[in-house]
Amino acid sequence: SPTFGKKQFKSAIDSAQKELNKLYDEVKVRLGSNQASIFLVHAEFLNDDELLKETEDLISKKHNPAWAWQQTVQSRIDQLKNLDDPILAGRAVDLSDVCQRVLRHMLGIADVSPAASRTPSVLVADDLTPSDTANLDPDLILGFVTAKGGPTSHTAIIARAMGIPAIVAAGDTVLDIANGTNCILDGFNGKLYLNPQPEDIESAEQLHEEIKRQLSADYAERLLPAKTQDEHVIEIFANVNRVADAVKAVEYGAEGVGLMRTEFLFLESGKTPTEDEQYEVYVEMGKALGGRPLTIRTLDIGGDKQVPHLNLPKEDNSFLGIRGIRLCFARPDLFLPQLRAIYRAAKETNIRIMFPMITTLEDVEQVIEITEKVRAEVGAPKIELGIMVEVPSAAILADQFAKLVDFFSIGTNDLTQYTLAMDRVHPQLAKQADALNPAVLRMVEMTVRAATQEGKWVAVCGGAASDIKGASILVGLGVKELSITVPTIPTIKSHLRKASLKDLQALAQSALNCRTAAEVRAL
Ligand code: PEP
Ligand code: MG
Repeated sequence: SPTFGKKQFKSAIDSAQKELNKLYDEVKVRLGSNQASIFLVHAEFLNDDELLKETEDLISKKHNPAWAWQQTVQSRIDQLKNLDDPILAGRAVDLSDVCQRVLRHMLGIADVSPAASRTPSVLVADDLTPSDTANLDPDLILGFVTAKGGPTSHTAIIARAMGIPAIVAAGDTVLDIANGTNCILDGFNGKLYLNPQPEDIESAEQLHEEIKRQLSADYAERLLPAKTQDEHVIEIFANVNRVADAVKAVEYGAEGVGLMRTEFLFLESGKTPTEDEQYEVYVEMGKALGGRPLTIRTLDIGGDKQVPHLNLPKEDNSFLGIRGIRLCFARPDLFLPQLRAIYRAAKETNIRIMFPMITTLEDVEQVIEITEKVRAEVGAPKIELGIMVEVPSAAILADQFAKLVDFFSIGTNDLTQYTLAMDRVHPQLAKQADALNPAVLRMVEMTVRAATQEGKWVAVCGGAASDIKGASILVGLGVKELSITVPTIPTIKSHLRKASLKDLQALAQSALNCRTAAEVRAL
């Protein structure tokens, strides 16, 4: 009867909600609330009165409750997909995830997880939702391959944080691989080898053992500096979002934080943190670093980092719109409290500030004027001010920018996307959008040359610095500080200790003269 159907539906919604809250708590402990926040978003869908009412109306018309729910959610998903907006399309994936969860409860199969495999396996999927990914058991899921997605998707970020080898955006053909096929997954090179011969398996296993041995050897020496054979020291810093990340960074041998992505304070909590709340986070972060430098990047909202509660207008090209510093100029109500919080913290801890998405000289002049005014009001000391070099104009005019700031930090993720005109979250362009493309490397070279002439220093905080090949070339190009993802710190340090600056410089010169990213990688 409809009454019984509605009860059944209500109870499935309640169970799903409880499950999501539990998941949030578990993942928060394991990976931090940043990674866990997606489950709060999912739980929020289940509070959507419209969805619930539409389903109940269908149930009242004597439809099966599971069917009613599925129909209602599917029509909402179709609406989102029709909007042709990648962010909303992403929300459609989340909504479908929630839909499945409720259905599992209604159909009494709640405990069957898609990856409940008993033998350690490589998972192949069309795409994985963030919640699928966070639920993977690293002891059973040795790695995964998705047909869709992108290297900077939520799924890829969670996989990296969990240390699960993965290949994303592999294309639909991977879906034809039969269940039970033996394979070797090489996440470093994005390669999947099918039906390997016994001797291939043996050599892969040997390599795997070697990698594990190397990782623990590197970890043992993580506190040593990255000093090359010819005595050149590179500073190895960390990219962090939260205080817990900073604690882990120090444990892994970071010499400071080269990029704190402050927008995650806004993305995570579902509300705008107050000046006091931000001040406390920055001070805590400084304490966790024990006097090591903390580079705070001011808000970089926009592009793929949308903050729903700000209700910002939808843009056709969000990566080319009111993003980063442009949004800060438009929203002093967000920017000024942040600057005040940073300067208040700077009275107590070792802080540098850097500004994202700087494009014109006017951007820098304006931001320095605003920043200086806040500093004077707060009565804080002068601290180092730098800009992100992530828009080609900043690299091309680096000689001009270098006169105005203390340092540059190159964001290779965006510099690659804007230099090559390839959306960084586009699955079909994932392979070509390579930071080692010589066009991007020449941008880096120009930036370092211009900075050096003005006696300024250059860091790189984009993903290219976290990769052995990228790090080697960047150091060879004269980059002084690499700011990288925490788990890679011991590896990058150890690699640089084995190299000589002279060789890395030669490598960098060869890279600049290559014609393609593939040629650079082959070096
Ligand atoms: C970058 O663009 O390389 C960068 C470090 O910033 P984000 O990834 O946050 O855009
Ligand atoms: Mg960027």
